[in-house]
Amino acid sequence: MPKTKKEIGGIDDKKPKVYKSLRGFRDILPDSQVYWDKVEDAARKIATDYSFDRIRLPYLEQTQLFERSVGKGTDIVDKEMFSFVDPSNTKVTLRPEATAQVVRTYIEHGMLNKPQPVKLWYFGPMFRHDRPQAGRYRQFWQFGLEAIGSNEPIIDAQIIIICFRLLKELGLDVTVQINSIGTPESRRDYIMELVSYFKQFRRQLSETDKKRLQKNPLRLLDSKEPEIQELKVDAPQIVDWLDDTSKQDFMKVLEYLDEAEVPYELNPFLVRGLDYYSKTVFEIIPNVTREVVNENEEEKSQNALGGGGRYDGLVEMLGGREGTPAMGAALGIERIILAMKAQEVPINKQREIDVFFCQLGEAARRKGLSVFEQFRSAGITTGEAFGKGSLKTQLEMADKLKAKVALILGQKEVLDGTIIIRDMESGAQEIVDVKKVVEIVQKQLGG
Ligand code: AMP
Repeated sequence: MPKTKKEIGGIDDKKPKVYKSLRGFRDILPDSQVYWDKVEDAARKIATDYSFDRIRLPYLEQTQLFERSVGKGTDIVDKEMFSFVDPSNTKVTLRPEATAQVVRTYIEHGMLNKPQPVKLWYFGPMFRHDRPQAGRYRQFWQFGLEAIGSNEPIIDAQIIIICFRLLKELGLDVTVQINSIGTPESRRDYIMELVSYFKQFRRQLSETDKKRLQKNPLRLLDSKEPEIQELKVDAPQIVDWLDDTSKQDFMKVLEYLDEAEVPYELNPFLVRGLDYYSKTVFEIIPNVTREVVNENEEEKSQNALGGGGRYDGLVEMLGGREGTPAMGAALGIERIILAMKAQEVPINKQREIDVFFCQLGEAARRKGLSVFEQFRSAGITTGEAFGKGSLKTQLEMADKLKAKVALILGQKEVLDGTIIIRDMESGAQEIVDVKKVVEIVQKQLGG
């Protein structure tokens, strides 16, 4: 008896398996591209205007890079990294964030020898094995800015200003929240104070917060656990423990923001979980959903469009020159787009074209390939529907795309070496020499 497909190791089912994208990984379909293009174009422009240079970095790094920089005891390193051992037995991780990477690049490529600060920007995907929900994905995109090699508070302000202005230019209504967490030295005493404060309420804390109290007490301040929300209000505040330089620098940052008319709120609970931060830390929150969001701390943090801060110790920690200061920020692209949709930012969804090329019959279709290419290389935005046969359908498409002019090429025109130009508004048509059509249309379009 002949063997079944299953018996010879094939898939038994007649229907092939239908694959789906992985949980937390999203396809960004053509419909959304207008938003993505708008955000990326605006990001590129503002970063360039402020003299930041673009870098593109690999998605995979040695696991240790993130363990050392982001820090053990953080959610990212403890729970969220996509790590595996590669075929050459190296422990690697899909980057969960890019700051550590940029610092690695700065050190590896000797950027120390360039004029400081070295100002870099990136736009690319990050990977975190987080619990997926609205605005939180396992692959998401960030636009980031890093300025390495200057401790001037104006650099902190400049990065905040860029993030704020970019979001404004994208039509968003946002607020900057800001805090200073001082130097690691000044933080040490504060953390002792914080620990002794929360120890009184140890019993009331959730298991997660009990662990934080031991491992990373600063994180208690941005904890989303409901039990801690009231306790936080009376907790000692870090600004009262800042050393003089941190305090003066913080005041300067605020003055620069005032000068640049960037509105901000002081948020004493903002600590930004990662180990490498020092002094200025900030986040940017969209305004429209703030009231709803403020009721729910978890949603609030999920709502941040971006944030960043100073990381004066990181370069040294990763083997760079002692005492190299740095400041950076990252904005989440999906969150920005969600906010643009929520705040109903007007956006032109339709691709606008000047000319639409219509063809009738096989000979016209063939000839049309070169006519279309002539328009394209002349820089005239031209639509087409080579796959369609009916003139009516093609003219309807031309109308929908708001073409000013339609070109009609039929069997007869191909034989005569002509083409019809139709003014889409008046419906007036003229027959012209196909060799001159680009030039004639260019004049009609006023170019
Ligand atoms: P972070 O440095 O973790 O605060 O990330 C900076 C920004 O990236 C956040 O404010 C979000 O806009 C975005 N972001 C972080 N994690 C995710 C995620 N899992 N999904 C989507 N966006 C994220």
